[in-house]
Amino acid sequence: MRYLILSDLHANSTALEAALSAVAGRWEGVVCLGDVVGYGPDPNEVVDRVRALQAKTIRGNHDKAACGLENAEDFNPVARAAASWTHEHLRPDNLIYLQELPSGPLEADGLALVHGALHDEDEYVFAPAQALDGLLESPSPVTFFGHTHFQGGFSFRDNQLEVIQLRPEPGAGFAALRVEQGTRYLLNPGSIGQPRDGDPRAAFAIADLDNRVVEFWRVPYDIDAVQQRMKRAGLPEPLILRLAFGR
Ligand code: ZN
Repeated sequence: MRYLILSDLHANSTALEAALSAVAGRWEGVVCLGDVVGYGPDPNEVVDRVRALQAKTIRGNHDKAACGLENAEDFNPVARAAASWTHEHLRPDNLIYLQELPSGPLEADGLALVHGALHDEDEYVFAPAQALDGLLESPSPVTFFGHTHFQGGFSFRDNQLEVIQLRPEPGAGFAALRVEQGTRYLLNPGSIGQPRDGDPRAAFAIADLDNRVVEFWRVPYDIDAVQQRMKRAGLPEPLILRLAFGR
């Protein structure tokens, strides 16, 4: 099976639609690593789309805050304001959908899915030391995580941990990673709706374990259109500005 791996969509339907049209016909199933909503102006559109795609989805910290499972106390003021805006604007059926999302780790056809770290869905895995648990203890050799909004990840083989920095060049759609037998991987598809790794294009991945390849994709989208909707919605200025920089 070829899986489309989505993460950190953050209620950005323009980015999601651009990503989906760029890879139409290239996948057979969809998984989603959480943070479907939060920050962006289109919570219902994005939840509706994820539901329609029948994506195997786990929850993220922003989903928990927006649907009322958590009170967003540990969010910064800007994120908290966006969470409460999202809560007010979600339709009741979408609120319930988010409340019922499972936490990771979830296994899907040989892939393990987590939002943050393997043992803590809210932990940010940036450094190799933080990646070790996921690499060594995950139920699957290939684990996907999100939460940091950084495309890339880590591999582990013969006691060697390597950082994977594999991003498509400007103008290229994707960069491919060969999945080697006997190597364990902790991979981040990057963020659809709010990339923070310096590349403002929507980020995601396609995993084809039968053919032992993971593609890391970047797709440009109409950032200005999203910023206009965020302004009209009264969402916080820093969230609007950062989309253009991918930071
Ligand atoms: Zn996120």
